[in-house]
Amino acid sequence: MPLKIELVPCLTDNYAYLIEEAQTGLCAVVDPSEAEPVRRALAGRKLTYILNTHHHPDHVGGNLELKAQFGAQVVGPAMDRARIPGIDTGVDEASGWQFGPLAVQVLEIPAHTRSHIAFMMDGAVFTGDTLFAMGCGRLFEGTAQMLWQALEKLTRLPDATRIYCGHEYTLNNGRFALTLEPGNAALRARMAEVERLRTHHTPTIPSTMALEKATNPFLRPMSIELRRSLGLEHATTIEVIAETRRRKDTF
Ligand code: ZN
Ligand code: FE
Repeated sequence: MPLKIELVPCLTDNYAYLIEEAQTGLCAVVDPSEAEPVRRALAGRKLTYILNTHHHPDHVGGNLELKAQFGAQVVGPAMDRARIPGIDTGVDEASGWQFGPLAVQVLEIPAHTRSHIAFMMDGAVFTGDTLFAMGCGRLFEGTAQMLWQALEKLTRLPDATRIYCGHEYTLNNGRFALTLEPGNAALRARMAEVERLRTHHTPTIPSTMALEKATNPFLRPMSIELRRSLGLEHATTIEVIAETRRRKDTF
C-alpha cells in the first residue's frame, strides 16, 4: 500500500486526513479545517501539499497558516480558485493530479457546492461533503439532479474503495436512514456497529463503497421500501433523491 492515511479530527466533527506517500515520504493533508491538529499529527514531518475538496471554511480554514509554516502548495478545484485561500494549483477531471509517483484521479462532483471535487488514490477516495457515511451533504449550490449525477459517479468506483469523508455524521445519518428502510438488514447491522463505535468515541471512517451501496439512502433511490416510506413508489429517481434530501434537511 503506497499510502499511509491518518485521521485528524478537527473542530467539533470534521476530519482532515494526513496522507504520506511511502516511496517518497511526501505528506499531504486533505481539507485542513484548522492548522494546529494537523501540525500535531505531522509530528515533525514536513507538509508538502494541501488538498481541498471545496471552499467551505471548515475544509480550508488551516490553508494559509499551514502554507506559511511549511511552504506547502495548495491544490483545489480549478473552477473555484477565487474561493480557495492560497490556491497554487487548480485541478479538474482532465488534469488529474500527481502525488509524487502516485497518479491521483480527480472527480468533479458538484452538488453541495458548484465546484466540489473528490480525490481518488490508491483505492481511497476523499469525498469531502458530497458523500458521507450513510448520508450526503446539503444542497447549498446544486440541485437534486446534480447530486444524483455526483453520487452515481462515485458508485462507479470499485466496491472495495475506502471512503474518507469530511465529517463524523455517521450515527445521525444512520438514524435517518433507518426511518426510511427499517427492514434493511445490512443497515441494521451497520447501525449496531456504529453505535458501539461512537459509544467509545471511535471514528466510523473509512467506509467502503460496497457498504454505502447497501446502507446509504442517497445511493438507494431504487429501494422499494425506501420509496414506500416516502410515498413515492412510482416517482423518478431524481424525485426520490430530492425528497430524501428534503426530509434529511429537517430530520
Ligand atoms: Zn461543506
Ligand atoms: Fe463541511
